[in-house]
Amino acid sequence: MVAIDPATQALWNVVAAVPDPEIPVLSITDLGIVRDVSIDRVLITPTYTGCPATFAIESDIRAALNAAGYASTRIETTLSPPWTTDWITDAGREKLRAYGIAPPTPAGTSTVYCPQCNSADTQEISRFGSTPCKAQWQCRTCQEPFDLFKCH
Ligand SMILES: [Zn+2]
Repeated sequence: MVAIDPATQALWNVVAAVPDPEIPVLSITDLGIVRDVSIDRVLITPTYTGCPATFAIESDIRAALNAAGYASTRIETTLSPPWTTDWITDAGREKLRAYGIAPPTPAGTSTVYCPQCNSADTQEISRFGSTPCKAQWQCRTCQEPFDLFKCH
C-alpha cells in the first residue's frame, strides 16, 4: 500500500487490526491476503479454499467493519492471482518466529529453520500439527518440537 488518503488509511487500519483466527499474533495484513482497500470494498484473496479459517477471516472482517462504522463497505474475494505463502510480510514472518512457529519456506526452497535456535537441522514429525494448516517438526539441534506454518 502506498500513499493512500486519510479516509482509506483509517479503513485500512481497521482491516489491519483483524487478527488471524488461528495465529492471533498475526494480522490478516501480515498474512498478505488483503489485496486492496477502499471505502466501497475490501478485496481479499483467501489462502486455501476449503480451509475453515477462510470463512472465519471473512466474518471477522465483516464484524470489524461493522463495529467501526463501515457497514456499507463490501467484502469481495478474488482467487486470481492465487495467494502464496510468499505474500506473508517480513513483519509477519518475524511474528511467527517470535510465536515459536517456523514461517513457510520461500518458493523453491525446502530448508526449515528452527524458530528457537535457527538451526537448519530439522525434521518433519507429522504432516499435521495442532491444526491442518501446520505441520509438526522437531529441531535436532535443540530438540524442541515446533509447528511449521503451511497454509491456511
Ligand atoms: Zn532448535
